Amino acid sequence: MKWSLSSHNMFRRCQRQYYFAYIAANHLAKKEYVRREAYLLKQVKQLSPWRGTVIHQGIKKFVIPYLEQRKSINWDNVKNKTIELVKKQLEFSRTRKFRELGITKANFDDEFCIIAEHENGNEIDEDVIDKVRVDICTCFDNLASQTEMISYLQGRKFYLPERFFSHQYENVRIHIAPDLILPRAYGCPSIIDWKVEQDYTHGHHKLQVALYAWVLCKENIFDVQKPEDIELYEVQLLNSDVICHDCSSTVFEELEDFMFQSIQEIRSLCGDHKYANQNIEDYEFARSPNSCLYCSFQKLCKELSNAKSFN
Ligand code: SF4
Repeated sequence: MKWSLSSHNMFRRCQRQYYFAYIAANHLAKKEYVRREAYLLKQVKQLSPWRGTVIHQGIKKFVIPYLEQRKSINWDNVKNKTIELVKKQLEFSRTRKFRELGITKANFDDEFCIIAEHENGNEIDEDVIDKVRVDICTCFDNLASQTEMISYLQGRKFYLPERFFSHQYENVRIHIAPDLILPRAYGCPSIIDWKVEQDYTHGHHKLQVALYAWVLCKENIFDVQKPEDIELYEVQLLNSDVICHDCSSTVFEELEDFMFQSIQEIRSLCGDHKYANQNIEDYEFARSPNSCLYCSFQKLCKELSNAKSFN
């Protein structure tokens, strides 16, 4: 079993959704329809989270290299290149390339994208795409105007954008990939979390960044001596706000309680998480119809539920 705050949120939202995303989805199971389809549908993004993903990619691919090379950031260049990324991904998604045999995410790193509208056979209006472009430019303009944050980022010894780490806790792998880690001094890293979406599920956002810090401490990465040595920043890009979150033993205790309860709850239903040992009938449907409205597994969920009614 792997645990993250996203998997916790999904389990709470809908147990069937969790089943598709964290138990059934498998890109290697090419001949098993449900597993392959669950894998593809797991990649489907609604427009708003997709916009957030592209902005994160823009920062990683086009902003961080300026910092690494200690050059001042050419924001027009960053915006133009990110908009090019939007164009490529829209084309990839519109032509449904992801449905072609042999196409994998790894081979099409920049372009791989499945937008829900395209997956559902619809087009996206040009004014909606324009709005995405405007939002992207707004986010970069806001970041550029956060001069204190920009100088905080500049001149560091190294930058680790979206670097993957994990830690074993309660026989579960806890995964993290913070947006950016950089050192202030030896044993004193900072973690930056770029935020584009408005925070609706993540009353847990404080826990999200604390989780990053917790894994770094537990794995003794960067030789951190105490939680307080880590600085945690959430940078809200759409409304130009910077929030500094607490990092302390108390926050870590709160986090561990939360994780422990969540892991027990998930384990009590999913057991060993092995696909062969599960029955989808044990997994409850979402309680809120809104969850289904924006669920990428809707088609598969209906197919399996209809198949059951015909049996
Ligand atoms: S369509 Fe609704 S019930 Fe089915 S997996 Fe999605 S959220 Fe859950």
